[in-house]
Order: sequence, then C-alpha cells, then structure tokens
Amino acid sequence: MKTGSSDDIRKGRSWLEINTKNLEYNARLLQHLMPSDCEMMAVVKANAYGHGAVKVSKCMNEIGVKAFAVATIDEGIELRKGGVEGDILILGFTDISRANDLKHYRLIQTVIDYNYAVLLSNRRNSIQVHIKVDTGMHRLGISVEEINKIAEVFQLDGLKVIGIFTHLSVADKLEEEAVKYTRGQIERFYQLLKQLEDRGIDIPMVHIQSSYGLLNYPELHCDYARIGIALYGSLSSQGDNTKLPSQLRPVLALKARVIMIREVAAGESVSYGRDSFIRKDSRIAVLPVGYADGLPRNLSYGSGSVLLHGRRAPMIGRICMDHLLIDVTDIPEVKQGDVATLIGEDGQEEILATSVAKSAGTITNELYSRIGIRLERIYI
Ligand SMILES: *Cc1c(COP(=O)(O)O)cnc(C)c1O
Repeated sequence: MKTGSSDDIRKGRSWLEINTKNLEYNARLLQHLMPSDCEMMAVVKANAYGHGAVKVSKCMNEIGVKAFAVATIDEGIELRKGGVEGDILILGFTDISRANDLKHYRLIQTVIDYNYAVLLSNRRNSIQVHIKVDTGMHRLGISVEEINKIAEVFQLDGLKVIGIFTHLSVADKLEEEAVKYTRGQIERFYQLLKQLEDRGIDIPMVHIQSSYGLLNYPELHCDYARIGIALYGSLSSQGDNTKLPSQLRPVLALKARVIMIREVAAGESVSYGRDSFIRKDSRIAVLPVGYADGLPRNLSYGSGSVLLHGRRAPMIGRICMDHLLIDVTDIPEVKQGDVATLIGEDGQEEILATSVAKSAGTITNELYSRIGIRLERIYI
C-alpha cells in the first residue's frame, strides 16, 4: 500500500510516536517543582511505561538527569547495555544468585527486608543498596518499627548503604483522611531518620515521593523524587486534583492506518460474537491494532473512539487481538491509508490517555505500560 521512505514503512501498520521535546519539557517542569537540592530519579520501569526505556533514559541523561529507577534487574541491565549513565536503582526483588550481575552492571539494589539484606551481604560483593522502609504501604520494606534491624543493615559488611526510602500509599488523594495517613507515613519516616542519626549513623540519600507525592507534598526535603507517570505527561486518572497544578504535556501518541474500508448493510453483525448489529447501512473501517498491541479489550462495543480527519469515529463490536473496527459512515472522506489517532491529537480534537484509561476502567499507568510490545516506536 505504501512504499518509499523507511518512515513510511515503519508507519505501515500501527505505531507509537514519542515526543522527546515534551518529555524534556515535563522533566524540566517537574524539576522546577522540587526544592533546589532535590533531584529527579526518573522511573523507567516497564520499558519506561511503554515509551522505550533506553531512549527515554538517554534523553534524560542529555538534560542532566543522573538517577533512574527500574523494577527488575534485567531492566537495569538493559539500560547499562544501552549506554545509560548514572545511578540505576532496582525498586523490586532480585534473586540473590544474581549478586554478581548487580556488581558487574553497577546496579543499586533495594533492601526489601532484613533477611534479604543479610543474604545479600553474605555474598561479600559490597553491593550498593537503598534500604526500603515500610511506613504504611505494607508491600516491600523493613517495618519502620524495627529500628534495630534497620540500624543493623547499615553495619553489614557486604553492603554499602547509599540510600533509604519509603513509599506513600495514598498520596494521590487530598481528602482529609488520606492526607492524615500520608502525613503519618512521612512523620514516621523522618522520626526514624532522626533516631538513626542519634545512633551515630550517617543518613544516606533520602527519598519518599513519587509523582503524586511531589505534586501534593512538594515541600518535603529529600535528595530524590521518584517520578514516573508525570514524566510521561499525564496523571493516573482523569479529574485528579493535585496541590500543585501541573501543565504536563503528553509524550506518547498511538496511531494506526486504515487498512481497509467496507460497506456493511443494516441488520448485519460485525466482529466476533454476533452481538453488535448495524442499524443502518454503514461504512466500516478496519484498523490493524488490537489488544495484543496493548489496546484494552474492554473498549469494545463503542466505549472507545479514534480520530480521523480531526473528527471522532466510534469503535464498534469487539476489539480483536490484532484488529478493531470503527464506524466511519459520518466521515465520508476517510479512505484506505489514512492515519487514525487512538491516543493523541488530530486537528482540533484530542484523545487523552486519561480518558482512554477511564473508558477502559483503569489508570494511565496500566494503559501505558501495556502498550506497544508489538508496535514500532518513532521518536520525534
Ligand atoms: C512505580 C514506582 C514509582 C513511580 O510512581 P509514579 O506514580 O508513576 O510516579 C515510585 N516509587 C516506587 C516505589 C514505584 O514502585
């Protein structure tokens, strides 16, 4: 259908466009919101929320970001192999048997509990670690109550403790009860630091906030803020209010070619299941993008739409693994080869990731991180 430049070939089916200018804009904007001695730790787990981990991290390196967070050791190794510079913190669990890789790739491991610290220390690799403290999320971390254990980790021979952090569980909510809980988490953490200091321990790098933590509690004094979703230009949910308003710019657009158009007569059914019937004679277009590309299947039956020629066309019937159908009866100029926008701008219209996520009953974090295993990413 399309021949010519490599760009045309890469845009043959469906693809993601990643706007690195907007990424840099968001990074600068967010850094500006932090106290001057706080640095951004760019959270690039899950392939940088689908945006491409190495590309995003190198782009961040270029504007001076020197700290990164990933979820797994293999995500960390991918960054190192891709030439990313700076600190890389693994936020999740790493099997002890991979201690040599931690050392070899200069990765920083999170101490998820006390026993884990002892096992890792026994490897005698002087691995760099950040201690995670559980102040109320009750996921990973040594309980904030266990001050003796936390203090002991600092003394373990085989480890170098270069950071200590906690994670807030409800920093996105501004209701009184949520704020009270968050303030409690923050207070317990700073009290712990004070007690460690009183025992003669030098406090290493400290971090607490993720995106909502920064936007709702910008006054905290930390060495890092771990920023994920906001870097990619959206909040998690539509309509969330934050204490600091943020004019973030979306980084990712999802586009697909119209690969075919057909006329379907009134009364016929479309897609799987024979449960979507056409009321009047219609023009139906096929887009080569489906749930295997990360487009949520529960956008089926018209809860999703796409932009074509600056206008909205509803998705119809069930979303398939590799395709979806849209009704273009009301946009007669649509032809084979046209580009449909599933997330992003077209003319005066825009489909925000937050609205797609809402229609799919999820948050942008999930939408982004599942998008595009199969899609080409084009950086602009
Ligand atoms: C994923 C994650 C983050 C980033 O969260 P965002 O809400 O996307 O900014 C920060 N800290 C930890 C521990 C995480 O797991």
